Amino acid sequence: MKNPIKAKKLQKLAKTRKPQRLESLLELSEEIAEKSGRWIYTQLLRGMRYIWWDADREVFLQWAQSIIKTEIRLRETTQRESYLKELIQYQQSYRTVDEKSRLEALIDELISLDRDYRNLEQSYVAVIAKCPEGSMKSVYLSFRSQPQWHMMSQWLRQDCANRGGCCGRACQCCDNLPDPRRVKGRGHCTEQCGCCHRARGFSVTEEDRERMNPRFDLTVYPRTAYSREMFLAHIWSLL
Ligand SMILES: [Zn+2]
Ligand SMILES: [Zn+2]
Ligand SMILES: [Zn+2]
Repeated sequence: MKNPIKAKKLQKLAKTRKPQRLESLLELSEEIAEKSGRWIYTQLLRGMRYIWWDADREVFLQWAQSIIKTEIRLRETTQRESYLKELIQYQQSYRTVDEKSRLEALIDELISLDRDYRNLEQSYVAVIAKCPEGSMKSVYLSFRSQPQWHMMSQWLRQDCANRGGCCGRACQCCDNLPDPRRVKGRGHCTEQCGCCHRARGFSVTEEDRERMNPRFDLTVYPRTAYSREMFLAHIWSLL
């Protein structure tokens, strides 16, 4: 549910004209901060512009929810694929009927994951195209243009460790891209990560999955602290 008071205030703000000189000054400061490599200041300046000028925050939050969800699904697919490839390599050294049928099942799943990844990649492009023009879009695209964007946020690293991911161990899996053809699947661990699976020692049920992943929904008001922090870290790189 939207916050009606905030919605009204934002609507009123949208009707006011941007003070052009201040806007130009903010743009200039943002450019200087980015060129000087002061990443955090750049994001803060963009954050200020977002708060002041971008009128319909609810629309942006809905968009942020879909992009974060799509990215998580891309990561799940990529991590499951990598894990299956490891299993297939291991399985090929066996030749019994059971092992052969297990190998066939793994290959079938791998083929279907490849299709899933391509579909998700298209959905990702479609969600990006739907992003309303404004500071949040430029913040998001600029953040994602950093090859190791997910490692730049202390909050995202800690969240990965809290969920039992590789950032809580010394393996450094999150530093490495599992497959160079799967750039959009880059990021922190999901329950499909092979290394996490080995560390855990058991397969995850739907119940475990719910327990391991705190809920976040940016479209629901009041927002939880986790949702707010996820938004700030995942979209803005501010935590
Ligand atoms: Zn690992
Ligand atoms: Zn992992
Ligand atoms: Zn991680």
